Amino acid sequence: MSSASRPASKPLAGRSTIVTGGSRGIGQAIARRLARDGASVVVAARSVEDAERVAAEIAADGDAAMAVGCDVREVAQIERLVAATRERYGAVDIVVNNAGVSPLSAEPQEIGEAAWDDILDTNLKGAFFLSTAAAHDMIPRGSGVIINIASIAGVMPIALESAYCASKAGLIGLTKALAHDWATYGIRVHALAPGYIATEMNAGVRQTAEGLIARGDSPSTPDEAFAKTLYDGVVGRTLLGRYGTPEEIADVVAFLASDAARYMTGAVTMVDGGWTIGGG
Ligand code: NDP
Repeated sequence: MSSASRPASKPLAGRSTIVTGGSRGIGQAIARRLARDGASVVVAARSVEDAERVAAEIAADGDAAMAVGCDVREVAQIERLVAATRERYGAVDIVVNNAGVSPLSAEPQEIGEAAWDDILDTNLKGAFFLSTAAAHDMIPRGSGVIINIASIAGVMPIALESAYCASKAGLIGLTKALAHDWATYGIRVHALAPGYIATEMNAGVRQTAEGLIARGDSPSTPDEAFAKTLYDGVVGRTLLGRYGTPEEIADVVAFLASDAARYMTGAVTMVDGGWTIGGG
């Protein structure tokens, strides 16, 4: 469909979109938002039940969605995800590589091979192989959009998150490399780097710190002290003074996915409330 015949309120009409990690947090907000903008959305996550719940909620709003169980650490499962998308929607137009884990906060010397592989395979390897699988549809048609959900941790060090930082810096490098190699095929590749966004990934820290603040208590355990220090550091450094919301990331993804961003590729868009330049 040409952009001229696409209704302004549905800028992504007729475009099939895979959102990995679409069952919770940022990915769920992205899936909902892109569906509202007219995209046919494939919600992918390891828990197919969670993905089905989100797809059903989108469908209940009258938009198009389906769920696929997929562990992005496994290339064979990625290939099945793309095949299922083609079967239902014909081809893949947009990929949002959002699935990500940040399972441990540890001194670098304490990170073992299994934890490293889990983080790198989810956050980086999965994004590469889903992008290349989808590119088989995009290259012959001369168009496509890939959006990689990176992190401020990809541009700045975050304490005790070395494997996560490496995965997100790698994802930013991958974004630039794919943008470079695929511009000739009309594929735009974007990185979006969220700051601290209120999701399950950081729910424990927020709940502990906000509970202490609400009760007027001081931390009484090392875990509480760690959570309070982290929380105060986030809110204190973020120029806009708060955690972001998943919907605030989804709004920017919707823009990057649309023709409004047609002259952008290979850039890292910071959506961090000013965290990166804060701290002064
Ligand atoms: P959540 O932990 O809330 O959700 C993670 C999502 O990814 C879930 O849908 C989960 O579903 C899915 N997922 C995890 N592992 C895999 C896997 N191997 N294969 C497929 N799906 C997987 O995370 P957020 O919403 O907080 O984060 C989303 C993205 O944003 C991540 O890439 C994260 O690094 C990034 N980010 C988040 C920030 C934040 O403050 N929250 C800040 C900066 C970046 P399931 O478990 O069923 O597989």
